[in-house]
Amino acid sequence: MARVPKTASESPLRALPSVDQVIRTERAQQLGALVGLAKLTALARNVTENMRAQLNESSGASELLDRETLLDEATKRLEQTCQQELERGLRRVINATGVVLHTNLGRAPLSESARQALVSEASGYCTLEYDSTTGARGRRGARVEQLLRDLTGAEDALVVNNCAAASLLILTVLANSGETIVSRGELVEIGGDFRVPDVMASSGTRMVEVGTTNRTTLEDYTRAINSETRLLMRVHPSNYRVIGFTSAPSLSDLSNLAHQSNLLFYLDAGSGALLDLSDLGLGDEPIIANCIAEGVDIVSFSGDKLLGATQAGLMVGRTEFVWKLRKHPFYRALRVDKLCYAALEATLAAYARGTARSEVPTLSFLSASADELTFRASRLADQVRASGSKVEIDIVAGNSAVGGGSGPNVHPETTLLALTHAAYSASEIEQKLRSSNPPIISRIEDDRVLLDLRTTIPSEETEIASALSRHFS
Ligand SMILES: *Cc1c(COP(=O)(O)O)cnc(C)c1O
Repeated sequence: MARVPKTASESPLRALPSVDQVIRTERAQQLGALVGLAKLTALARNVTENMRAQLNESSGASELLDRETLLDEATKRLEQTCQQELERGLRRVINATGVVLHTNLGRAPLSESARQALVSEASGYCTLEYDSTTGARGRRGARVEQLLRDLTGAEDALVVNNCAAASLLILTVLANSGETIVSRGELVEIGGDFRVPDVMASSGTRMVEVGTTNRTTLEDYTRAINSETRLLMRVHPSNYRVIGFTSAPSLSDLSNLAHQSNLLFYLDAGSGALLDLSDLGLGDEPIIANCIAEGVDIVSFSGDKLLGATQAGLMVGRTEFVWKLRKHPFYRALRVDKLCYAALEATLAAYARGTARSEVPTLSFLSASADELTFRASRLADQVRASGSKVEIDIVAGNSAVGGGSGPNVHPETTLLALTHAAYSASEIEQKLRSSNPPIISRIEDDRVLLDLRTTIPSEETEIASALSRHFS
């Protein structure tokens, strides 16, 4: 039997377990199998050092702290820190915020066929640069480029890591050591450090600003053209709008001006609508095929905004210029991997089949009507009430958001579950939901926790119902 010293005379510090004793407990050995021995030892050292510091501070209350209690406490703390370490990785979450393109939650959720393609086609060996019909080497991304050509009417297409990379590549290859003309109304910051003037500066092109914040005319562009000019650039002001007394030349006016002056016209379109989304209130998102039809030479757009695939920078435009981009050493540095191509290919294929609106979650989530959301919210509330959960649920009208720097003034009508509890504050409810596995992400307004089912799927609604029963039974 281990001696259990209960007297204050033995220093509690001497009863403190060593790092070695902590990591030899059965529980610590199990945790070690998850995080590795080196990490386990480092975490156990932190735990014992913290406990030593605490014991030093509170020397009076030490009589009850025997060896066994301290070892138990150390093991418990070690378990907690290991758990935190493991939870810091990428985890699935349930997005009940109603923000469809939630940048912190990974922007676009992938379609079923994209998920399937990632797992079944691309996660092992695959035909990334191999033609299985001839046995010869194939070109990376050939099918995605074909789909992009088909969907936009452009002569050629190319894919890099994100839209910021696409801008950098285009400006570097097509305007480096010359001037690029851009309207003062389009010198935007997109968030995550993408600022048009900074991208221009790092690509080596000299930015020439024309016009004013709210009004820029074709004349402004014409006057700025000289022998150093390489590019006219337009940037879609994705995440804000200037309203009121505004004007800007049309895409075709700018194309014509560029071509009359032997220059290129580049459009950074941001979100990349491949369809007309005006019924969703997104009528001012440039439709890529229209931009090409209006004579834009190169258009860049994001893969993981409205388009609804993975992070990628998609470029479409005239063959001559796309080939220059493809042959530049930067392209090799910015190109994407097989997983990205798999998800893009499956997503673009849904657009080509004409089923994107029902298959691609960004579009189907935005299309859900307030009536449908009322039905789903009520069904979930009934389920939770039937379980005997003590959380109070009100069904209230509200608004969702597009997010991700798209449609800043589009707030689709939705139906929310508003949660309150006699014993818990809104932030306690929010925290309990967030600590579920998977975490359920909600928002708080007016001391209530709000759940918006626009951004969830039925199986997640079942998970939310069971979390609400479990946490508040
Ligand atoms: C979002 C956006 C970008 C950056 O796109 P990423 O894919 O996030 O790099 C660039 N330009 C515009 C106009 C955008 O809306």
